[in-house]
Amino acid sequence: MSNANLDDKTEPKQQATIDDRENVLKVEGLTKIYPDGTLAVDDIDFQIKAGDFCVIIGPSGCGKSTTLHSLVGKIPPTEGKVILDGKDITHAPTYERDIGLVFQDFQLFPHLTVEENIIYGLKRMDLPKDVIDERLENVLEMMQLHELRARPPKELSSGQKQRVALARSLVLEPKLLLLDEPLGDMDYKLQKRMERELLRIHRELDTTFVYVTHDQTQAMRLADQVIVMNGGKIEHSAPVEEVYNEPNTAFVAAFVGDSN
Ligand code: ADP
Ligand code: MG
Repeated sequence: MSNANLDDKTEPKQQATIDDRENVLKVEGLTKIYPDGTLAVDDIDFQIKAGDFCVIIGPSGCGKSTTLHSLVGKIPPTEGKVILDGKDITHAPTYERDIGLVFQDFQLFPHLTVEENIIYGLKRMDLPKDVIDERLENVLEMMQLHELRARPPKELSSGQKQRVALARSLVLEPKLLLLDEPLGDMDYKLQKRMERELLRIHRELDTTFVYVTHDQTQAMRLADQVIVMNGGKIEHSAPVEEVYNEPNTAFVAAFVGDSN
């Protein structure tokens, strides 16, 4: 159906659209075909509202990590556009993107202490020393890492490493923070505590989170917006209540209904 008439009535092109003002992130036609021919992400579109806690769920291998890595610039997309705050960053280098990523496996530097791991990226931002010190102290406090600051990662538990990985991203104060199954390695009790912690940090920092998990019950507890992926495609993207109450495909209904 043509919508040329509708287009005529929208605002002049030079102004930011409502989408650009409300949505910190816009993804258009994102596609990733790996060199071996695997179609991992298949022409997806989505938008994320500024300040939201967005959770991407879907079974293993559906393209969640590939999507996050494309947003942050670790993987060049085969096709499509990534727009952050109205700016096309599809081909911008990772360090210019203002997007943080907490990896599935933390990726801490083994030869650096907790504190050195946390300020590693900050030091490269060319900030005055007192700003670095202040941000470091704040994030150590927030993640309760004061006592561990001089330790190397190998002396930390999984949950503690997780907190360091989070601290290292949060200290950069990115516009968008991407988290790839960050609680995967933890036991249930610790997971629950970290979930509460993440919700608190999200509220306090007034930042936008995109959180990936294959655990639909976690999505339910954390999300404002849920994106359900399957086979490289988006099946449903909507506020959490809508995805659970009015799933728009049989796959979504089965997937979110799994544990109920
Ligand atoms: P998820 O994070 O949802 O588990 P991924 O994004 O890791 O999914 O993977 C999506 C698909 O792409 C899977 O079929 C996976 O095997 C494939 N894949 C992931 N990384 C690569 C790669 N480097 N080369 C080829 N195929 C890959
Ligand atoms: Mg993954």
